[in-house]
Amino acid sequence: MKTIGILGGMSAASTQIYYRKMCEIVRKRLGGLHSPELLIRSLDFARIETLQASGQWDEAGRILNAEAKGLERGGSDLIVLATNTMHKLAEQMMSGVGIPLLHIADATANRITKSGLKTPGLMATAFTMEQTFYIDRLKAAGLQPIIPDDADRAEVHRIIYDELCKDITTTDSRSIYENIAQGLIEKGADCVILGCTEVGMLLNECNVSVPVFDTTLIHCESAIDAALA
Ligand code: GLU
Repeated sequence: MKTIGILGGMSAASTQIYYRKMCEIVRKRLGGLHSPELLIRSLDFARIETLQASGQWDEAGRILNAEAKGLERGGSDLIVLATNTMHKLAEQMMSGVGIPLLHIADATANRITKSGLKTPGLMATAFTMEQTFYIDRLKAAGLQPIIPDDADRAEVHRIIYDELCKDITTTDSRSIYENIAQGLIEKGADCVILGCTEVGMLLNECNVSVPVFDTTLIHCESAIDAALA
């Protein structure tokens, strides 16, 4: 089994889901006492969020690059960056790194195209919904992503940073998310991408009326596929 290096803490709430989920998948696939070979590097998200909010992406990229090199030196065979947003810096992060990055948008797009769906609604941070680094990757895979309108994007973003990243889930925010997902479906979405690694804390296939693609779960499954290949 290959060793997966997880670069996480973005946020810590979702990195815990990655760890639990990967352990569950390996237990199911291999049985007995099996568990994944992991190196988890969990960063202080306050430091990263300050750089995001002030637009210091270059500095954030330098941090991710140093951490990716650390995961390689530590013996990882592949890297999982446990956040959608920070894939904005994937190229800078992997510069000079000799092991592969398992890109969260590619893993997700792959899953959607295999299921024959085409028009995913995207719920994510404002960075992920509004900038090109993620949307273009989905489009390159032949998908036609739809994003919420301005007010709804602001609301999705606020709930991620003010609540989900702090491990807070409320019934109010769950219904706000359900309504925004429903709005995307009414705009023509044939599925919904939970395009932030914390969004699965509020939405899943039980409270959304079209197929749901949870990037966290897809990323974990793809990483285990690669580790066991
Ligand atoms: N975990 C989030 C994501 O998947 C947001 C936090 C971050 O900015 O990294 O985009």
